[in-house]
Order: sequence, then C-alpha cells, then structure tokens
Amino acid sequence: MRLVSYDDGRVGCLDENQVIPLPAATMRDAIAAWDSGALTAPGRGDAVPLADVRLRVPVADPSKIIAAPVNYRDHQAEMNSDAQVGALGFFLKAPSSLLDPGGTIQLPYHDRRFDQEGELALVIGRTARRVSEDDALAYVFGYTGLLDITMRGGEDRSTRKSFDTFTPMGPVLVTADEFGDPGQVDLRCWVAGDLRQKASTRDLIWGVARLVSYASSVTTLYPGDVITTGTPAGVGPIAAGDTIRLELSGLGLDLTAEVAAGEAVASPTSGHGRGPVPPPPPERH
Ligand code: MN
Repeated sequence: MRLVSYDDGRVGCLDENQVIPLPAATMRDAIAAWDSGALTAPGRGDAVPLADVRLRVPVADPSKIIAAPVNYRDHQAEMNSDAQVGALGFFLKAPSSLLDPGGTIQLPYHDRRFDQEGELALVIGRTARRVSEDDALAYVFGYTGLLDITMRGGEDRSTRKSFDTFTPMGPVLVTADEFGDPGQVDLRCWVAGDLRQKASTRDLIWGVARLVSYASSVTTLYPGDVITTGTPAGVGPIAAGDTIRLELSGLGLDLTAEVAAGEAVASPTSGHGRGPVPPPPPERH
C-alpha cells in the first residue's frame, strides 16, 4: 500500500490521484494493524482527490530519528572524510525537526552554510531489540523520502541537523511488501531546478538490513521510529527562495520543501570553518 498522512493526521491509501481513507485513524494505528496482520486495503467508497488534501509528515511523533553518517563512498570522498558509517555508528536527529511535505525550511543563521541531503528513510513497524541482519527487514513497516538538512561546521551532528524544520519527510510511506528491495532504489535530488544528486541505494556502504540490525543492537527500536540511510554525493548550499525536490523510485510522489531565512540571526556557536570540509558550491543555472 502507498500510504499518506493528511489533514489532521488521518491516514489514507493513495490510488493514483485519489486518497482512500483507512479504517485506522492514524499512521500509528495503521502500523499496529500491520503488526497484528490486520492492515488491509480499503474499499474505494470515500475517496477524496489528492489535490483536495493537505499532505502531512507520515509519522509526526517518532520516539527517535536515527541517521547514518557517511554511508556512500562518493559522499565520503566529497566531504574529505576519513571515516564512514562502519567507524562512526549513527547519530540522532530531534523528532521535533520533522516538516510536512511541501513545508518551508527556516534557515536559523545568516552566517553559516546549510546543505540539502536527499535520503531514503524507513519506518519501523514492530519493536526491535538486537535483531539479526537476516531478520531485520521483517521489522520495517515501510519506506519514504527524507531530507536531512544540515548545517556545515564543527558542532555535533545532532546539533547541526536538529533545527526545527530540518527534516522534511514523506509524502508517501510505501509498505515494505509493496516497495520491494530497498537496495535497488534510484534517488535524484534537485535544488532550484538543478539536479544535484543522482544515485542508487545499491551503493550504500551499510544497507537497510545492516542499519536496522546495528541500530537495534544499541537502542530498542519502537514502531514509528525512523531510520534514514544517508546521502550520496552532490550536497551543496541551499538559500532562501530555493525549492528542493527529492525523487525516489517506488514512491510515486516527490518530496518538496521551500527554503526561507526571514528570521535568521548570527550563529551563537563558533563551528564555522571546523569539521568535515564540504565540496565547493555547485554552479547554479
Ligand atoms: Mn544525512
């Protein structure tokens, strides 16, 4: 099923340009129904046009957002990083950084660089503690798009990536049975119409099963938790007025976000010029 959260957080099944409400009241209810084997496709009765609903972030209140740092070799190279996921483990993004699809990223500082990172993310469907790599995919409810918006510099990743609005997610959450192999997903990400990132998840250093297994060896994963798999090469600065668009094969609808900086102030921390060295800004067309 291709699921969306919409309006006040109710959940529906996307069927071309129609949204068919589920009996489940919320995405969390749908995840619980999935875990008990009771999630079934709704009848067409009360379908509403997609254009008439406001799409929301698929899961608004995960207990945590787990994120893979440096999980593509080409991104490791462009960041001049001597370490990748196998040495770094994971970091956390604040759940309060989530942003609805089509929402506006608010850049907090006028004197720092902020980049887009397009990523494939997954939502956990059942409690997972120390699950093996072989069993890990059975704990995945579904897959969605995520933008891991990032301030460059020397502050901790969890600070640089946790500003309010820095995690646009959605718009579609495709159940694992329908999504297919998460290791064969094509990813493209545009900023202001320029294609910046073009990659396949077959180039992930740690694939989805290994990420879920590893994360569950550190912390219990709960239904609704989000794991984002990391970004490929092509990160670059974003600025007020930009539109970011992320396309993942198998989702059917792209994730977009606008960028604004209307309330930006000077950065109170001094990490500028420290930390991993990002690539030079790409040419804008
Ligand atoms: Mn990232």
